[in-house]
Amino acid sequence: MTHFRVLSAEFAHETNTFSKIPTTFAHFESQDCYLDAASAIAARGDSNTELAGFLDAARAHSWEMQHVLSASAQPAGRVTRDAFERLTAPIVAAAAQRVGQLDGILLGLHGAMVTEDHDDGEGELLERLRAIVGTTIPIAITLDLHANVTHAMCRHANIIVSYRTYPHVDMRDTGRRAADILQRAMAGEIQPVTVRVQLPMLDEVNGGRTDVGDMLPRLARARAHEEHADVFAVSINAGFARADIREIGPTVLVTAQGDLERHRAFAQELAQDIWACRHTLASRFLSVEEAAAQGAAHDGKGGPLVVADYADNPGGGGYGDATALLKALLDAGVRRACFGPMVDPQTVLALQQTPIGTMVSVRLGGKTDARLGGAPLDLIGSLEHKSDGRYFADGPMTGGLHRTWGPTVVLRVQDIDILVVSLPAQILDLAQFTTFGIDPASRNVVALKSMQHFRAAFEPIAAAVIVCDSGALCTPDLTTLPYQHLPRPIFPLDQEIDLEAWRRLDTVAEPALPVPPIAPPRPVAKVPARDVALPVLEQLASWYPKLFGAVFRPLKRGIFQDLMLAHPTALERESLKVALALHTRSTRYLSAIANGDRRHDLHAQAVEDMAPEHVFQALVEVSRRRQARSSEDLAPRLRERMAQAFEASGLARDAYAALVRSRDDLVNTILDGALADAAQRSAKDEALLRAFETSGHTVEVFADMYGIDPRLAGRMLDRARRRLASA
Ligand SMILES: [Zn+2]
Repeated sequence: MTHFRVLSAEFAHETNTFSKIPTTFAHFESQDCYLDAASAIAARGDSNTELAGFLDAARAHSWEMQHVLSASAQPAGRVTRDAFERLTAPIVAAAAQRVGQLDGILLGLHGAMVTEDHDDGEGELLERLRAIVGTTIPIAITLDLHANVTHAMCRHANIIVSYRTYPHVDMRDTGRRAADILQRAMAGEIQPVTVRVQLPMLDEVNGGRTDVGDMLPRLARARAHEEHADVFAVSINAGFARADIREIGPTVLVTAQGDLERHRAFAQELAQDIWACRHTLASRFLSVEEAAAQGAAHDGKGGPLVVADYADNPGGGGYGDATALLKALLDAGVRRACFGPMVDPQTVLALQQTPIGTMVSVRLGGKTDARLGGAPLDLIGSLEHKSDGRYFADGPMTGGLHRTWGPTVVLRVQDIDILVVSLPAQILDLAQFTTFGIDPASRNVVALKSMQHFRAAFEPIAAAVIVCDSGALCTPDLTTLPYQHLPRPIFPLDQEIDLEAWRRLDTVAEPALPVPPIAPPRPVAKVPARDVALPVLEQLASWYPKLFGAVFRPLKRGIFQDLMLAHPTALERESLKVALALHTRSTRYLSAIANGDRRHDLHAQAVEDMAPEHVFQALVEVSRRRQARSSEDLAPRLRERMAQAFEASGLARDAYAALVRSRDDLVNTILDGALADAAQRSAKDEALLRAFETSGHTVEVFADMYGIDPRLAGRMLDRARRRLASA
């Protein structure tokens, strides 16, 4: 069984660049942010998350998985430099620490992260990882169905797997699928790359809805294509339109090997279908007045009428404090209704000391940008509920996860219970209401902020669902957004586009082919040396702590036979060979040799001198390894150590040079310098020795005459005598 070593992390953000609220580290911290493996796994390891899917695969394939962190924040403006750097640094550092030992990298991403410095946050993270680990290990990533997939992502990730559901209910499955493909790539069974086809559109016309409409037959075709032996995943991404960036819009990805032009042709077919259906809108967006009129007419029979405000969806970066729909519902006099969320931390704070049941007067919502979705409302109502805002989700999307609204109150105005919260989030779970004393199922009207995700939990209790546009930041009318950086033409801002001509002139054209070379296949059955060696080395350390313990000692020649003789049944020949090979190539062992330590037997007795050429080679190798991790020039230190090693060898200069000189010019240059230093030192020592011998004094008196420490003088004289004797 091969125990592959996999580095994993989750880092997700869907950035609405039109939001004036930057996404800071504090936003991540106050939402879903677990900066170590233990807390990430405790919070997300067994619920509907990518991480849970990664862990399912890790158990199934006996991986040694190192999870770095899990961090996501609600959609808002560009991720600040501080947040991006603080969250990518641990992931990159973990890869750097284990470089050379990793078999694969597995990341749960969103695919629409825009930062202060990078329009493609995920591409930047992947590029940094590739710079560390090189191109020889496979990288697998998962993406949200609303990803804007860039060339950089496809260049740096071999395997890309996106959600297939909207509402998203397949996070865990997606994580598992990506991980299973990664397993095959690590085993050398497959060599996947990802082919990408883009369209000149802002997003798929229905935002990628998978409960109705044209995505369903597309997904069926994608599943059928995955039946081919050389196709591992087909992902259809709806895109995320609320970002003013160049690489935007729907994409079709095929993660495959073999005839990539054939896979690209298939992706083109699906893309063509997205294009052909660009006018087929599945949702009808009502005005808030139309929606409120329907709400007033509904008597609650068969369940509530669910009214979704598409435009003020915090799940798309909306501020969550738009008031237009609430105002319309109050004006229409709807009965037995609830409304949520209204993101208004100031109002919540102001009511912290107010007793439940008090009639209060508030200026509610509309505070972030009154031009988008309505101005603040002056209301009088009763305070029904106060809470710290924590809830435990139990619906199909987020079931099993602890979440929070931050401090929360419920206000009853006329006959509408309004959930007023501190932290933005969209409604996608019944517990977001029920935890705070509101039972949506028993209401005539449930008004909520969400585009599509609410359907997973709310359609089952609803008599009917209608969707309206309050004119807030996530309005479905994309032509109203102040784009400046888009590639043009682009639909729907430009209606007349010749797709064939666009493909020929594509300003964000495909590069030749995204082909990250990956490692040649390795035999599946071959067990990594470390896995064999580590248990043996632990055993040796317990038997021979002076040789294999905290300090390594150079081993006598023939130690292999000695060990086999001493432990004929406990040690297995091949494993011992592998273990000794690994041990004697380790930096700690080479350092012991470089220090000129003698060779030891199993009784920890020094029994043999180390050959001068072995000391020299160890010095060079240890210095080379340290230099790879250091920005300081280590050559002067190496030169000094070489001079000492030469002096310790007792050999004449030419004899030593003949023994150690290699074909490495750089090493030879340092050696020549070291030998020159030693010659100079030797000349000084000899002069000192001659002076001492002609003086007729004791060492103490002699040292005093020259103003040097008597012990140092003694050592210098000894050194000079030894050198003269050996010369
Ligand atoms: Zn999404």
